[in-house]
Amino acid sequence: RFAYVNGRYARHADAAIHIEDRGYQFADGVYEVCEVRGGRLIDERLHMDRLERSLGELRIAMPMSRAALGAVLRETVRRNLVRDGMVYLQVSRGVSPRNHLFPSADTLPAVVVTAKSVARASGDKRAEAGVAVISVPDNRWERVDIKTVSLLPNVLAKQKAKEAGAYEAWFVDKDGNVTEGSSTNAWIVTADGALVTRPATVGILKGITRTVVFELAARSGLRIEERAFSLDEAKAAREAFITAATTVVMPVVRIDDQAIGNGTPGSIATSLREHFHEFAEEAAAW
Ligand code: PMP
Repeated sequence: RFAYVNGRYARHADAAIHIEDRGYQFADGVYEVCEVRGGRLIDERLHMDRLERSLGELRIAMPMSRAALGAVLRETVRRNLVRDGMVYLQVSRGVSPRNHLFPSADTLPAVVVTAKSVARASGDKRAEAGVAVISVPDNRWERVDIKTVSLLPNVLAKQKAKEAGAYEAWFVDKDGNVTEGSSTNAWIVTADGALVTRPATVGILKGITRTVVFELAARSGLRIEERAFSLDEAKAAREAFITAATTVVMPVVRIDDQAIGNGTPGSIATSLREHFHEFAEEAAAW
């Protein structure tokens, strides 16, 4: 396996960043995870848009042009012989003697790209059973709309979920509303079949998969209510599901101790998952 690190393709086992990389010292960097299907990047343009936005919010320069970055992503996928899987891109503010203040303007951002294969069947098998989620208090900072590598609350939440026998943790804000999962967006389906997900204006990361599901729902004639929903409403919902580039659409069958619907994957979530790849591959060509 190979990784791209600051201009070189290194053997994955030997790839290393400097001890004074600001990503390492301050979590001063951003990332993207893009799904790969048939060797192609899914929703590349949307991921690049979000990367540029995240970098802009942190006042880190784009490390190279979008076209050059796209070429690095594809080359990393190619060198790792990935057909189905994911590519990871991280950009930090660069290497500089430790100091909270930004380094001098000539400091170059540091770039890491890795790619790995993920068997398509593993996600499909999980989706057939559906997954359990637990709820945890949302104790993150306000700027979770920026895709930073500062993910400690998410790490702790996901680990807690695993130890509780669940797949994901849903963050719940002070008003009792679900914000999102530790690495996924959260959705429910109302009794009359409308999809509900929190507005992306505040409190969540605007997921690329979430954006694609909006398109997909429109095509399928499904209504979307973009509004806050409470944990109680979620537990009483007809269906629930989560979305992310690597998870796609994943049915949720239990929230804490409450079975959702009849405790098996809902028909709407299941059909959204089935339609997703076809649509996403089209969307890759936007
Ligand atoms: N929310 C959080 C906190 C995430 O980490 C992710 C995955 N990157 C998502 C939502 C889903 O985003 P996407 O659909 O772009 O993968």
